[in-house]
Amino acid sequence: MINDPSAAFLANAQPDCEISGKEPRLGGELREKAVWVDESVCIGCKYCANVATNTFVMEPIMGRSRAIRQDGDSTLIIQEAIDTCPVNCIKWVMFEQLDSLRAQLAAMEIKPLGMLSKGSRKIRIQEN
Ligand code: SF4
Repeated sequence: MINDPSAAFLANAQPDCEISGKEPRLGGELREKAVWVDESVCIGCKYCANVATNTFVMEPIMGRSRAIRQDGDSTLIIQEAIDTCPVNCIKWVMFEQLDSLRAQLAAMEIKPLGMLSKGSRKIRIQEN
């Protein structure tokens, strides 16, 4: 009997599995909610990025934290990072909300941290 290699393309690799969109891609644990940073509130302290190092990075232009992946750290570690945030701007949200939240942020025209507003001047202290 000769095996037909093209048969492999006809077989369903996971016949009993329905894709829900919530599957961990790299072996992370299943999680109901996604983590999201409200960058309009973030003060750039870096606490979260130091705790959940595989989830949060400091965005280099704006100087604010961003959740770059959802399966990088355990729920416990991410919750610890959330608890360290001094301005409470990291939230658990529904995965379906992420696109809308990102769009709202993009529409806000957030300025990079430490940037002076137009017309502002640096304060100079006179030395005697
Ligand atoms: S802990 Fe909060 S304020 Fe600090 S960098 Fe992270 S998100 Fe921003």
